[in-house]
Amino acid sequence: YQVLCCTGTGCSSSGSKSVIKALNHHIKSQGLQDRVRVYKTGCFGFCKMGPILLVHPGQVLYCLVSEKDTEDLVVQHFKRGQIVERLLYKEPAEHKTHLHMRDIPFFQAQMRIALRNCGLINPEVIGEYIANDGYFALYDVIHNKKPQEVIEIISKSGLRGRGGGGFPTGKKWAFTAQAKDFPKYVVCNADEGDPGAFMDRSILEGDPHSVLEAMAIAGYSIGANQGIIYVRAEYPIAIKRLELAIRQAREMGLLGSRLFDSEFSFDIDLRLGAGAFVCGEETALLKSAMGQRGEPRPRPPFPAVCGFRNKPTLLNNVETYANVPIILRKGWAWYAAMGTETSKGTKVFSIAGKINNTGLIEVPMGTTLRTIIYDIGGGIPGGRAFKAVQTGGPSGGVIPAHLLDTPIDYESLSRAGSMMGSGGLIVMDETDCMVDIAKFYLQFSRDESCGKCTPCRIGTKRMLEIMERITQGKGEMEDLEELEELAGDIKDASLCGLGQTAPNPVLSTLRFFREEYIAHVRDKT
Ligand code: SF4
Repeated sequence: YQVLCCTGTGCSSSGSKSVIKALNHHIKSQGLQDRVRVYKTGCFGFCKMGPILLVHPGQVLYCLVSEKDTEDLVVQHFKRGQIVERLLYKEPAEHKTHLHMRDIPFFQAQMRIALRNCGLINPEVIGEYIANDGYFALYDVIHNKKPQEVIEIISKSGLRGRGGGGFPTGKKWAFTAQAKDFPKYVVCNADEGDPGAFMDRSILEGDPHSVLEAMAIAGYSIGANQGIIYVRAEYPIAIKRLELAIRQAREMGLLGSRLFDSEFSFDIDLRLGAGAFVCGEETALLKSAMGQRGEPRPRPPFPAVCGFRNKPTLLNNVETYANVPIILRKGWAWYAAMGTETSKGTKVFSIAGKINNTGLIEVPMGTTLRTIIYDIGGGIPGGRAFKAVQTGGPSGGVIPAHLLDTPIDYESLSRAGSMMGSGGLIVMDETDCMVDIAKFYLQFSRDESCGKCTPCRIGTKRMLEIMERITQGKGEMEDLEELEELAGDIKDASLCGLGQTAPNPVLSTLRFFREEYIAHVRDKT
């Protein structure tokens, strides 16, 4: 038997490491060491059900496994060949039990491309990545493709930046390639700061080599020899695995000088961020990576011209990079065939809040919110009614129940008054007060404002004071207009994306749930 056990942050925090230890102990004491192997993997995404074990042959998925279940598992499944029924997944609504991972609705509507190796390989063993086609794209581009051809493939694939902005990735690569100054740099934004978002963390924990390989490919394409991953210090498992992955890649000659005996050299260093949300903004990130205070600056010049150490710099986020090697292996047409007219491929989302299956998912662009929340997410706990979903984190907005059939793509979400953002989805049910939700996000943006420009520094504070008045039952009807007026000024006059989008949660709740604001004001609650 092969037993795969998630050791990502979610399952680790629910005890997967002690489950692995106990499993190995019982396997040994039953004399089964030659027949059963336990492998550490990254995240399967089914975080609510962790710790999770996937057993081959049979693709049997065991959920919520604790240390005390391990003896039964070893004796019953691995010794006697019988399934341990009580650890199988049961659907909350229909009480249906599923034996195989592929039959579980949570996995059925998904398409795992950026997450292709998460949960399948041991991220601490480079050989497992290589055995799954890893580093072949890098070999191929170095030996068989000109830099311009690689950029064309990425452009034609339709891949857009997964960090929130949705800027066409190929275009960004082309701009940086055209810059005349040297040296150039390739930077990975792994400073994932939205509340409830953990897409990038899971990729780094589960498949760090996909990001390293993509950065080396990007380096070859734009003419850079140095990469930097800016990762938040609050991600200790991701950092440990990145450090190990970089070390292993260097030892195997996949990073460093003269890759695959070519003239091309590329290496990668890490920089740790200290948890400031604003450092996810590209110009603030670059400053912080250079050891300066992480404050945004006006653009232009864009990083493609003047970035790290004032040199041309290509900056993409973790998920964007994770798509690159497989696009090059399977071709741009394969990738462009998925998704919608303007949003190609798939998108990773973390789903959290009032939803049965909290976790990490990847779906083709164009999948509706209803499919995500009901088919994959398993609906709302306790059979309560769905009220809204916040997309795009503190920069986004809420999407109410009557827009549940909105397809997920950059344009549709923005038409619905929200945004794609980096992929955090927080679900609210009928018991949630939407004014409180908007206040929470506004408070987050106020706290995270770097203070450099007045509209954001003072404006978010004033808006928050009004929101506090309203939720304390001291608001007046004029406060609603003042909120909208202030929001418009902050959006127009702030220097960076944090300030420009900070009023969005208030504006979208005012648009869709104005009656809740009015109820607070009128009933003085
Ligand atoms: Fe700083 Fe806010 Fe101005 Fe951005 S908008 S530079 S976070 S004060």
